[in-house]
Amino acid sequence: RCAVAGKKRKQGGKHRPDEEGSTVNTVREVFGSMVFGDEVMRERLPRETYLALRRTIREGRSLGRENQALADVVASAMKDWAVEKGATHYTHWFQPMTGITAEKHESFLAPTGEGAAILEFSGKELIRGEPDASSFPSGGLRATFEARGYTAWDPTSYAFIKDDTLCIPTAFCSYGGEALDKKTPLLRSMEALSCQAVRVLRLFGDQTTQRVSTSVGVEQEYFLVDERLYDRRPDLKYTGRTLFGAKAPKGQELDDHYFGALKARVKGFMEELNTELWKLGVYAKTEHNEVAPSQHELAPIYTTANIAADHNQLTMETMKKVARRHGFVCLLHEKPYAGVNGSGKHNNWSLRTDGGQNLLDPGDTPRENAQFLLFLCAVIKGVDDYQDLLRASVATAGNDHRLGASEAPPSILSIFLGDELTAVLQAIERGERYDGGGRGELKGGVHVLPRIPLDNTDRNRTSPFAFTGNKFEFRMPGSALSISGPNTILNAIVTESLAQFADELEGAEDFDQALAELLARTVKEHRRILFSGNGYSDDWVEEAQRRGLANLPSAADAIPCFLREKNISLLAKHKIYSEVELRSRVDILLENYAKVLSIEAQTMLEMARRDILPAVSRYTGQLCAAVNAKRAVSPALSCRCEEKIIDRLAALSGCFAEVVETLEEALLETKNCADLEACARHCREKVFPSMQKLRAVTDEMETLTAADCWPYPSYGQLLFSE
Ligand code: ADP
Ligand code: MG
Repeated sequence: RCAVAGKKRKQGGKHRPDEEGSTVNTVREVFGSMVFGDEVMRERLPRETYLALRRTIREGRSLGRENQALADVVASAMKDWAVEKGATHYTHWFQPMTGITAEKHESFLAPTGEGAAILEFSGKELIRGEPDASSFPSGGLRATFEARGYTAWDPTSYAFIKDDTLCIPTAFCSYGGEALDKKTPLLRSMEALSCQAVRVLRLFGDQTTQRVSTSVGVEQEYFLVDERLYDRRPDLKYTGRTLFGAKAPKGQELDDHYFGALKARVKGFMEELNTELWKLGVYAKTEHNEVAPSQHELAPIYTTANIAADHNQLTMETMKKVARRHGFVCLLHEKPYAGVNGSGKHNNWSLRTDGGQNLLDPGDTPRENAQFLLFLCAVIKGVDDYQDLLRASVATAGNDHRLGASEAPPSILSIFLGDELTAVLQAIERGERYDGGGRGELKGGVHVLPRIPLDNTDRNRTSPFAFTGNKFEFRMPGSALSISGPNTILNAIVTESLAQFADELEGAEDFDQALAELLARTVKEHRRILFSGNGYSDDWVEEAQRRGLANLPSAADAIPCFLREKNISLLAKHKIYSEVELRSRVDILLENYAKVLSIEAQTMLEMARRDILPAVSRYTGQLCAAVNAKRAVSPALSCRCEEKIIDRLAALSGCFAEVVETLEEALLETKNCADLEACARHCREKVFPSMQKLRAVTDEMETLTAADCWPYPSYGQLLFSE
């Protein structure tokens, strides 16, 4: 959050600023300087207003009409602060159901009678905006006669200044109150989870905790590419990924000096990115990532889920902006290049009480251990019961290229706990005493766990859902995804487990006995979701099938799962999505999936016809001319090399023509699909395979064609362009 940097530092893992002295100074100077955060509020608001606002924030409520007076005071202070910082406009900043974020700028200036203007910004404008948002997808939620949506300030996420504009983080709803954005369901899921978690804490004798919130830290991967090369690749420009491109022999273009100089450019980018993010209160540290050439990672320090979601949106936006200033384009697509690793967004998730206790931290006492185990089991049960939903929450066309491609977790959910915890759970299931290395013991029916060392549990990088010491790391989300969706679902499924646990335990005569039974039963029933082996292996796919785990390879398979009866009732029961809202989202997701694939297919066709085929013919022509010239000199000269290439290129051109036609037909057929689901499925089953075939043929052509005839920068150039 936007607390002082010193406070933040305590929480950090390896992303601590004090490792580098100068960084600390920069952070102190700029951190949160563009945020209307707690410190500024305390300074600038009358004491009662400040305390009232704090209360609202603590209770996680949004500011409605009944708070008009409060809002007026806050608005006025916020405007003065923003104007002093050079802001001229304000905007309600929100997250529509597709796209990154949206804003509509309004000027602070209000005309007065005499043709002059005064600076104005009222509480009404602060808490409620009416963006003319009829062009945002609503999945049919907003009939055109009531085209307007409404935005409401979410004071739990601080306002900030970006590009001379005061941005007010808001929720976006329809006239009838249906959520039209990604923030509203996330806030609802946090509320639901808090409710059930507090119920469970009461059972353990905790009478003080009023709220439990979800903490989230996201590791954001991305690629940088030189913008001059990017500009010459229509596929990157239209779709964010390369649709063609033969693999580069690794390191081919590597010239140490050249590479070294360009690395300095990346460094400059990272420094500016850090500073820009710090100003916005995002405590980020960029890192060079060696996995794929020109791929990097950024991780901020974790914070409350909805702020983490806002910050991640800001991070992606800032990355794109700052990259341009350094002559780069930042690629957030999940799979910009075939053959090298794609980009993910690891979602680190834990539960924190308002007193600062991490509920996923194994404690020191038997009580704390038992409580930890119950929360752990709530997650295990939730993930097992709702594997399909969790998979669906990360389903996008882009992510289909990662999941199951031996570089990211498969599209099968499983949980990795580490040896120690696995052994503890096994003992619990059997009702035995746990004595891992003599350290654990059983006291009064509850297990005393050894302290679980953090890095002991982070060995399995192939697991989609790993317990890493005091948090779970969900590794399925793709790099371009808003984290609101997966966190909403994570919160929802754990809420349901906790609700069931609380229902059962609240009625128990002997709490310890009932708890021990519940834990043992939960482990027994959900053991199948625990897996410690290699998640990338083919054996696991078979094994998972034997265990009855869901395998949903593509987004077209996964998205419709939202509408399974059990999932609709889960989300409706906890008031996270109404059925109507859920259906509208599914429509949007399916439509988006089909659109992305159609755009990719059209881009391929255009590149194939207008650039690639002409280039190949030209080169074949050159070769034929060369053969003729040689023959003219002497029929005895060998033309074997040229002839072989001519032969192969001619054969490939034949295939090429055929595949282009098939792809075109498949694309045309999308118009005849009965509904959105059929269309998504058609795109996956008919359009996509033709795209892959066309790519295979073309990539081989590229390897045979002279570099100066090929119309696009090669993989070698793109990947080693830094
Ligand atoms: P890694 O080894 O995967 O890089 P780190 O410990 O550096 O792991 O953490 C990665 C991310 O997880 C960071 O954003 C960090 O702030 C976040 N994180 C750490 N602890 C927690 C927690 N208790 N809850 C949520 N996120 C956390
Ligand atoms: Mg990680």
